[in-house]
Amino acid sequence: MLKGKTALVTGSTSGIGLGIAKALARQGANIVLNGFGDVEGPKAEIAALGVKVAYHGADMSKPAEIEDMMKHAAAQFGRVDILVNNAGIQHVARIEDFPTERWDAIIAINLTSAFHATRLALPAMRAANWGRIINVASVHGLVASAEKSAYVAAKHGIVGLTKVTALENASTGVTCNAICPGWVLTPLVQKQVDAKAAALKISNEEAKKLLLGEKEPSMQFTTPDELGELAVFFCSAAGNNVRGVAWNMDGGWVAQ
Ligand code: NAD
Repeated sequence: MLKGKTALVTGSTSGIGLGIAKALARQGANIVLNGFGDVEGPKAEIAALGVKVAYHGADMSKPAEIEDMMKHAAAQFGRVDILVNNAGIQHVARIEDFPTERWDAIIAINLTSAFHATRLALPAMRAANWGRIINVASVHGLVASAEKSAYVAAKHGIVGLTKVTALENASTGVTCNAICPGWVLTPLVQKQVDAKAAALKISNEEAKKLLLGEKEPSMQFTTPDELGELAVFFCSAAGNNVRGVAWNMDGGWVAQ
């Protein structure tokens, strides 16, 4: 379905970003990966799906590096047809204890980076009259949790940015939508499981159950593969007129 198209997924060396990159690659899209840590493993996983894969190590908190990444993607594959703004970090603390440097980093990586990548991707998408911008927000773009001020502010912000991007392009073939996952067992959440296990002196399995039990009625983690299939739907012809939605995949979290 996406043969000949190029998808750039930020923060795709791990977790949800890698799951979405693999789902788009399974549909034939060439992939530009981004993120830190092991790069060769994810690159090989994508290449094994029979598509071309490139990588750019832009730090998404740095606008000049984002510009360089977008130029690199266009130089490799001609243009970016699908942009997935996924890179994100977390920090958990009460507001009065929240390190100001962590606040700035979360807003830069989880929110401002999507503005920069979007503004740089739009001209070529509009010229082609086809494009998909998918913002990985969170249930925390729809509701809040204590001790996640920067994350909740950034995720509510990216849901707003999604709507504006959708509206400004509503009469074109360029759509923008947000995906709002509940708990997904990636390194980002494993840290929160570990912290709970240590604080309460309980096992990892008990900590996972507690985490799920607090928020997610399904008592089940959403998987990167499931989120990848939602991204594929947004890229399909059936998604042509889906514009500005924030679609939660959260085991019932937000339904309560
Ligand atoms: P993860 O830690 O597994 O992956 C994060 C990715 O972002 C990695 O590839 C990492 O290298 C990259 N990254 C981090 N800082 C970066 C930077 N400055 N520049 C470039 N890349 C950077 O986390 P994940 O759980 O897969 O999270 C991905 C997205 O999904 C985030 O936006 C997160 O907020 C969102 N999300 C996660 C969950 C969850 O339960 N895991 C739930 C809702 C939303």
